[in-house]
Amino acid sequence: MAIMETYDLVILGGGPAGLTAAVYGRRAGLRTLVVERESHGGQINMTSSVENWPGAKAVNGFELGASFSSHAESLGAEFLSAQVEKLRAEGGRRFVVTSAGEIEAGAIIIATGASASRLGVSGEAEFTGQGVSYCAVCDAPFYRGQTVAVIGGGNTAVEEAEYLTAFAAKVYLVHRRGEFRANRSAVDKALANPKIEPVLHSVPLAVEGDSSGVTGLRIKNVQSGEETSLAVSGVFIFVGTVPHSGFLRDLVTLDQGGWVVTGPGLSTNVPGVFAAGDVRDTDLRQVVTAAADGARAAMSAYRYLSDSGRVSH
Ligand code: NAP
Repeated sequence: MAIMETYDLVILGGGPAGLTAAVYGRRAGLRTLVVERESHGGQINMTSSVENWPGAKAVNGFELGASFSSHAESLGAEFLSAQVEKLRAEGGRRFVVTSAGEIEAGAIIIATGASASRLGVSGEAEFTGQGVSYCAVCDAPFYRGQTVAVIGGGNTAVEEAEYLTAFAAKVYLVHRRGEFRANRSAVDKALANPKIEPVLHSVPLAVEGDSSGVTGLRIKNVQSGEETSLAVSGVFIFVGTVPHSGFLRDLVTLDQGGWVVTGPGLSTNVPGVFAAGDVRDTDLRQVVTAAADGARAAMSAYRYLSDSGRVSH
């Protein structure tokens, strides 16, 4: 495949990590390209309200992502809409193979993030888009006045359950343990909401439905063994995330969960290749930590390029 272009810095992924890396890369004078397969913003596009981005008490996730993107663009970052298929190293040279062609990069930042895990229960795949959803902000308005179930006990589940109460008449919050994983303030707020009914110690067994869509959620109480069905027309699943890292497997070291293993300066095992944000092995996956990672990775990339005399300006 012919090399389309050469950039100092190629950033894979246009979420908060990648777009912050682009801001820092451009401010350091690097010719910078962001490759993104979907719309810029990443997972925050699916977040109704981000309430822990410093300086903004509450900001719509999509608007925050758009502001990151326009900031990077205003500084001269370039964007390519394509799927990254793999990375290739040839001696000291690095290549990004995309669905739109191959690009040579002085340095690469992997910021491809993660996406919603599937539960794997019967009916889940069949009714996805017809009652099963992984995005409250996208689908909540379809459930005005109806009863829905949210599955999960982390911050996403608890906060999106709360968001759904603006539309749904009732929200069952189904969690497999007796204690929520989400932080205290989010749990207190959700449990104080009279529209939310927690269903604890319960695991989903199947999404039930017919030609009209979802009609129920079959659950099992893990303490009593009792099985019941909740009559719901929507099931929102928020049971964690999986990294977008499969395309890296041949070159970059991943841990058992598939997260990119990073060292000092967010370096990977491949010189000149760095990782930032949710895709890497980290203990906190927030917008603010992703953005901070983006800044660190970009400055590491800049140092790597300067030290090896590869900056194009
Ligand atoms: P998470 O924290 O990993 O929580 C996943 C939840 O799903 C857990 O409660 C887990 O139960 C449950 N779960 C996992 N597999 C399951 C299965 N097969 N069946 C039933 N339940 C299952 O994921 P998240 O809520 O998406 O959050 C991801 C990261 O983003 C976290 O670090 C979180 O703090 C962060 N986040 C932060 C905010 C915020 O600060 N405002 C908002 C959203 C997300 P167990 O608890 O029993 O393991």
